[in-house]
Amino acid sequence: MTPNALPRRLTSTIIIALAFGAPAWAKTPVASGTGGAVATISEPASQAALAILDRGGNAVDAAVAAAATLGVTDPFSCGVGGGGFMVIYLAKENRVITLDHREVAPAAFRSNAFAPDGKAIDFDTAVASGMAVGVPGTVRGWHDALERYGTMSFKQVLAPAIKVAQDGFKLNDNFVALVTENEKKFALFPETAARYMRDGKALPAGTLLRNPDLANTYRLLSSGGVKAFYSGKLAQAIIDSVNRPPVAAGISVRPGQMALADLANYEARWRQPVRSTYRGYELVGMPLPSSGGVAIAEALNILEGFDLKSMPREKAEHLYMEAARLAFADRNAYLADPEYVDAPVAGLVSKEYAARRRELIDPTQARHHAQPGDPYLFQQDPSVPLRPAAAAKARLLSESAHTTHLAVSDKDGNIVAYTFTIESWGGSGITVPGYGFILNNEMTDFDFSGPHPNVPEAGKRPRSSMSPTIAFRNGKPAFTIGSPGGATIVTTVLQTIFNHIDLGMDMPSALNAPRISERNGQATSIEPGFAGSVQAKALERFGQRWDASAEEIGAANAIVFNPDGTVTAVSEGKRHGVGSALVQKRGH
Ligand code: GLU
Repeated sequence: MTPNALPRRLTSTIIIALAFGAPAWAKTPVASGTGGAVATISEPASQAALAILDRGGNAVDAAVAAAATLGVTDPFSCGVGGGGFMVIYLAKENRVITLDHREVAPAAFRSNAFAPDGKAIDFDTAVASGMAVGVPGTVRGWHDALERYGTMSFKQVLAPAIKVAQDGFKLNDNFVALVTENEKKFALFPETAARYMRDGKALPAGTLLRNPDLANTYRLLSSGGVKAFYSGKLAQAIIDSVNRPPVAAGISVRPGQMALADLANYEARWRQPVRSTYRGYELVGMPLPSSGGVAIAEALNILEGFDLKSMPREKAEHLYMEAARLAFADRNAYLADPEYVDAPVAGLVSKEYAARRRELIDPTQARHHAQPGDPYLFQQDPSVPLRPAAAAKARLLSESAHTTHLAVSDKDGNIVAYTFTIESWGGSGITVPGYGFILNNEMTDFDFSGPHPNVPEAGKRPRSSMSPTIAFRNGKPAFTIGSPGGATIVTTVLQTIFNHIDLGMDMPSALNAPRISERNGQATSIEPGFAGSVQAKALERFGQRWDASAEEIGAANAIVFNPDGTVTAVSEGKRHGVGSALVQKRGH
């Protein structure tokens, strides 16, 4: 997450072609049909998933294939240098399981990592450093998902990504804007600058970018498996990059302290999902250390007590914003790595607690700032966790669309909702020399100073906002949704669900509607073009107010499982350079 205003409005060609009648080659953000389906923000990634599905792979195989390809085409959002969260629905067993492969703090990490003299250091300085790098979890996550629930090997699922990395892909405006945004950070690290810049400037749009180093890294995984990443030469190269960052002459950045043992000991975690209900839907989302599932459940529980359908749209949207504000006050105060912090999750997601929180909402007037509530009274569990000794101070950062989310389903009805990241755009900025991938800066997702449940500790996973979600109705999958965007992920997923279920929008409209992100900060984040609109003015009559620095929020991907048995894959129609939705058999 970064406090800086991020990309100016990206000017990309907008192609909105509905699947029916669109030529086979057209990049389309909406596709309907039968068989498997995929939605990602990258066309080569969606094609990789489809190729794997066509070869008989299942949703897990296809998700890893798409993710590996996103690591090539969207190297500033995600990759093997980071971590993520995967929600998997296994159709035959009618079961959902989640895989946490979040980065962890190295064993030598200390609580004062970002406040060496008791005072928090500047955020950008913290980001571009070895200290910011957490032990990457992505490869372990891919391995564990494939081993347990996939049907294919690394060799098979990485093949499409290797081809894209080897042959290259054409840079679009979005990619160039992200490099331009990061010129200062990338210039610190020659290996990164050399790959994405010439003479200190971003490579122009249309450039064919190859990444043979990353192709070789994927080949290493194909032949050596997960061990080839967490031990041996590649592991050594990672810790060298963290502990002695490969900087340009005359530059110094803060080193980290990562050991080979940190990589060798890295484990992903299978976790039970967070479950909640909303107007006849059952929502299944990501548990801690992501705050996403809990915050979305709380906000929806609050909203459920209002008859939103009978209201004018602006009143319903005002209530959506107020519910998000209250959920964020709690999320900011209580949530962190569950292996380190006894968070009051049962209370936070209870309907009774939501009823208490709902009483705080004025249906005619914005609250502007909410205090955390007392979920401990609603734990309904003999082992009520201890309350934190001191009220945690909320830290609110403004975030854009870092990270990536993909959705895949297969012909047998299995579903994968997968969000993964290297944190800020371009992560720490450090490319591991010779291996072609950028290391994360996930450690800056910790609160820099306490007291706070989310302070840095050795072996701890920083709190996330990633919210891969699957919704069921009458025991059958109804839709899946997720998005990038730091803490705005929570509101993007929440608002899309609200748009779809309460405002009755079809999924493409729900996704393309202007995003309004209220996170209990000074003002609500909005997108360019929203301020001054009829919709904005109507909300201002409730006292809602907007952050002056409007920027694109999120880049969501969804799949809808239609009652007639068809599927509709839905990606962004206009954000992040337009997404790519594909189905195995079109047009049914
Ligand atoms: N690090 C963020 C999180 O885990 C995701 C990165 C971003 O989108 O800003 O919530």
